[in-house]
Amino acid sequence: MPKQQPETTAITSGRDDSGALSPTIWTSTTWQSSGLEETSKAAVSVHQTGNYARYSNPSVREFERAIAELEDAEDALAFGSGMGAISSIILALCSTGDHIVAQSQLYGGTVAFLNGPCKRLGIDVTFVDGAKPGAFAAAVKPGKTMMVLAESPSNPQMGIVDFSELAAIKGPYTVVDSTLATPLGQNPLAHGVSLVVHSATKGIAGHNDATLGVVAGEKDLIDAIWSYSVLHGATASPYDAVNGLRGIRTLGVRLAHQCNSAMELAKYLASHKAISAVHYPGLSSHPQHALAEKQMRQFGSLLSCEVAGGKDAARKVVDGVKLICPAVSLGGPETLICHPASSTHVGVLPEDQVTAGITQGLLRVSVGLESTADVIADFQQVLASL
Ligand SMILES: *Cc1c(COP(=O)(O)O)cnc(C)c1O
Repeated sequence: MPKQQPETTAITSGRDDSGALSPTIWTSTTWQSSGLEETSKAAVSVHQTGNYARYSNPSVREFERAIAELEDAEDALAFGSGMGAISSIILALCSTGDHIVAQSQLYGGTVAFLNGPCKRLGIDVTFVDGAKPGAFAAAVKPGKTMMVLAESPSNPQMGIVDFSELAAIKGPYTVVDSTLATPLGQNPLAHGVSLVVHSATKGIAGHNDATLGVVAGEKDLIDAIWSYSVLHGATASPYDAVNGLRGIRTLGVRLAHQCNSAMELAKYLASHKAISAVHYPGLSSHPQHALAEKQMRQFGSLLSCEVAGGKDAARKVVDGVKLICPAVSLGGPETLICHPASSTHVGVLPEDQVTAGITQGLLRVSVGLESTADVIADFQQVLASL
């Protein structure tokens, strides 16, 4: 047999050994043991099920195993949200006096965490342009930099980070937020980075009904993060984990449709006179299209565009769409539109918004599962009204 395709692994991974094809929701928070010796052993074992739910839960473990298999990682660890994952990774691996190199284009919550709690705890952060070759490596302070944190494609300008370049940085842990691509779109670990993290709330769970995060990498590193995470307590719920696993089962077909639609919509918007720029890694006009083609299998469901008329025009678009929903988040069945400067990235300082390319005319679109023609028709009617 040839090597199994990831779309097939999405179907076969994360099954328990009961014979059931769909996962069991384990609601118990505690498990009885055979006696004092077993309870005592369980209390000091790492990332084991059958003890206490905050330490590990069998439903959550199946989701983690599926993600580990899809990312070709030794292990994975789930959290109650993507931010639960990101904040736990940072606080598990970085201490006061340490330094982090991060991309200036990042999820708004991640930027707010780096500028808020990290700075307050004395963790120094340098922001760099992740799309600029050599920018991460140049900002590393030998012996001080503990982590290099990247997001690719990045929010909301769809910048692409070169994973091989990131992996070549020796010393600090290299972490990639791969949410926008999903595990079927790219696998950063295959290029040699230390950790890949996802907000599974988005494309992985995929139905806007679960809040979930996950990190994957080498077992020793995942175990170290686990040891911190049981104290941090951003534990994944078994209900959300089961929805995460259900999402993985259909991720292949959902992502394929969304990527096709996003590509069609990106081409349509690029040809419209009311739109001054379209950011989508699948477009040959994207400045890093060649890099995206090299390291991505698919270009994702998210794109952004610049409305020529600035904030007023952006407001008319968001207020005037009929089928498309004005909402934050991404990767679900419904096509969503948002204005990052006033929503997802409102916590980012105005001057930092400018460096990250978050302009007043920028709109972010998460392409859903509707007919492509209907989504484009909605844009057609709203752009005609400008
Ligand atoms: C949504 C998102 C997060 C945060 O995930 P939550 O599940 O909302 O906590 C982190 N990174 C990216 C790229 C995201 O889109």
